[in-house]
Amino acid sequence: MKSGMLSGKTALVTGSTSGIGLGMARALAREGANIVFNGFGDAQQIDQLHTDLARECGVQTAYHNADMSKPSEIDAMMRFATDKFGGVDVLVNNAGIQHVANIEDFPAEKWDAIIAINLTSAFHTTRLALPSMKHKNWGRIINLASVHGLVGSAQKSAYVAAKHGLVGFTKVTALESAGTGVTCNAICPGWVLTPLVQQQVDARAAKDGIGNEEAKKALLGEKQPSGEFVTPEELGALAVFLCSAAGNQVRGVAWNMDGGWAAQ
Ligand code: NAD
Repeated sequence: MKSGMLSGKTALVTGSTSGIGLGMARALAREGANIVFNGFGDAQQIDQLHTDLARECGVQTAYHNADMSKPSEIDAMMRFATDKFGGVDVLVNNAGIQHVANIEDFPAEKWDAIIAINLTSAFHTTRLALPSMKHKNWGRIINLASVHGLVGSAQKSAYVAAKHGLVGFTKVTALESAGTGVTCNAICPGWVLTPLVQQQVDARAAKDGIGNEEAKKALLGEKQPSGEFVTPEELGALAVFLCSAAGNQVRGVAWNMDGGWAAQ
């Protein structure tokens, strides 16, 4: 078994086949945690991803393809994690999608999907993970909210509503666990250059007739004073801190890592 702060523990990261979730999975595996991967993508690439990480970090990894908009599949994924590793010690609720449109043009089915994946899925994973965490008197629940859990932006009604909801849910989870060794916090990134954001860069480039680099600068320039993207590695390091003993009394916090976005 790999020795590390999280050796012998198991982390389940939803939506970890890409972007921030993958950064979280890598950071936690480097601390010795076994990892349950989840998310969509090419089956062969996903298999390679998690077997490579297992080899690199000397941990065990597994993958479950639950669709986070489907409670019965979430239930199956949580049972899979228990059967395979005896439960989930670190739960990272990360899976998420985006859709950009004015409210009057916002497709109702997109609203429902965003609320289901970005918010309701965290309720289901949390309610299923908490009994074992409380029994062990140790657990970490990390909700990937967003700076949009703290402030709004036009054309992102469902996303902003879901992320504000997730920050609220984080506080209640933290309060209900406050007398135990289980903590719950939210991480609130600003722009991170992942496939989810590249779509918005592409849309901006097409709308303004500009190139990729210019579109990135335009998006950052509007909101993120540092002018730099946050990286999945930086977010992974924050998750590792929240899992450490130094994080024992960090409870119910919505911690932005946003290049100064919410300070304005
Ligand atoms: P991404 O598109 O790179 O990754 C999203 C992951 O979620 C993928 O693994 C995808 O397969 C998975 N996923 C999507 N729908 C799913 C479903 N129904 N069931 C299971 N898995 C599903 O996006 P990302 O930028 O890495 O975003 C990860 C999280 O971080 C999201 O919750 C997002 O809202 C949040 N976030 C992202 C940014 C950013 O700038 N990229 C900023 C703030 C917050």
